[in-house]
Amino acid sequence: VVQKYGGSSVADADGIKRVAQRIAATRKAGHSVVVVVSAMGDSTDELHDLARQVSPMPPVRELDMLLTAGERISMALLAMAIANLGMEARSFTGSQAGVITDSAHGRARIIDVTPGRISVALADGAIPIVAGFQGVSQDSKDITTLGRGGSDTTATALAAALGAEVCEIYTDVDGVFTADPRIVPGARRIPRISYEEMLEMAACGAKILHVRCVEYARRYSIPIHVRSSFSSRDGTLVTDTPDAGSPGSPGEGDEMDRAIITGVAHDRSEAEVTVIGVPDKVGEAAKIFRAIGAASINIDMIVQNISAASTGRTDISFTVPRADGQAAIAALRALSDSETFDSLVYDDRIGKVSLIGAGMRSQPGVIATFFSALADVGVNIRMISTSEIRVSVIVDENDVDLAVGAAHRAFALESGEVEAVVYGGTGR
Ligand code: ASP
Ligand code: MG
Repeated sequence: VVQKYGGSSVADADGIKRVAQRIAATRKAGHSVVVVVSAMGDSTDELHDLARQVSPMPPVRELDMLLTAGERISMALLAMAIANLGMEARSFTGSQAGVITDSAHGRARIIDVTPGRISVALADGAIPIVAGFQGVSQDSKDITTLGRGGSDTTATALAAALGAEVCEIYTDVDGVFTADPRIVPGARRIPRISYEEMLEMAACGAKILHVRCVEYARRYSIPIHVRSSFSSRDGTLVTDTPDAGSPGSPGEGDEMDRAIITGVAHDRSEAEVTVIGVPDKVGEAAKIFRAIGAASINIDMIVQNISAASTGRTDISFTVPRADGQAAIAALRALSDSETFDSLVYDDRIGKVSLIGAGMRSQPGVIATFFSALADVGVNIRMISTSEIRVSVIVDENDVDLAVGAAHRAFALESGEVEAVVYGGTGR
C-alpha cells in the first residue's frame, strides 16, 4: 500500500502524531506500507512568499531547492513520530527515492522511478517515508519540483514502480465530492469515479487530485483511494474496474441508471486575453498562437468572433494560466506591428465552471439545463468549451460560487444527508 498524506493532514505536531498512528495501524494490520508526505500546512506557500521578498523573480533552480525543503521537514518529523511508536521508519528525499524527472523546474515530469532504497528499507522491515512533490533531473542532476499539488503524483508513480495494490491519498475531506464542499455545503461524496471523469475534474480545477497523478494511475491501472486522514469514512475509489458488489458487469443497463452528471468543478487560476482587430486573413491566428506557444504558455479556451464586414477584422479571446498572463501579453506586444492586431485587453477577474459526466455522451439537453440554471441566477457566460464528457464556461470571477451552486442544484447533485465536512486546511 502506498499512502500519501497532504499538507493539512500534517499541519502541526499533533497532526503528524495522528498520521503516525494511522501508518502504524496499517502496518499492524499486516500491510507493507510506503508513505509519501507533503509539506506541513501552508508551508509551501510561505516559502514562496519568502522567496518573493528576497527577489521578485527568483531563479527557478533555487526556488525548487527552497520549496523541496518543506517536504524534508515533514518527512523527518513523521519518521520520528513513527519511531516513537516503536517502529522503524526511514525518510528519503525524492532524489534518494529514485524519482527521476526532466529538468523543467517548477513543473518537472517524472520520467523514471528507481526505488532501490525503498525496496531495501521495506525488506529490512522499516517504513519508508518519501518526500512528495520532488525529484532529481536526469541531465542536470538538479533538484526539481513537480508543480503545486505534485505529491499525489509522487505517490502514484511510486505505487506503479513498486507494484502496489492501491494508492491511498489522505486529505482533509472525505473523498471526491460532486462540488467543492467549501462552496457547496450540500455536496455529495462520489463513491466511485472513472479515471476519465477524474481526469476532467482535476483538469478543470478540482484540487483534490493532481492531473498527472490520475494520468499515472490510469496508465498503470492503479486504483486510487481518496479519503480523509481525520475520519475513517469510506472515501472515493478512482478506478475503471467494475464494482465487485454490483451484479454483472456494467453494461448498457447500468449506464442508463447512472447519473448524467458526476460533478461540478471550478477554477480561478486562469486569465482571459483578448486580441482586438485581428485581420480576418489566412495565417493571422497562427501568428498569434505561435507567439504564445514560443513562450511555453498553455492555452485553454479560444473564442473567435465573426469579423465585422466593414473592417475585415475580428477579435480573438483565449484563456491562459493567470501565472503566465503577463508573459502572454509581452509575447503579443513583441509582435505588435499594427498589421497583426489593434489592441490587447487582459482580464484576470474570471473563473471557469465545468460540468463533468460520462453520462452526457448519450443525453441531449444537458447544455440547455446548465445554461438555464446560470440564467436563472443572473450569471452571464463569456466563453464556452466542450468535450465529450464536459461542458465548461467562463464567467465573472465573482459569479463562480453562484454558478457552481446553480449547476449543482439543476442536476440534483445534493445529498439528502449530512453536510460534507472540511476537516482542515485553509484552502490556500
Ligand atoms: N507541498 C506542495 C504544494 O503545496 C506539494 C503538495 O502539497 O502536493 O503544492
Ligand atoms: Mg500542499
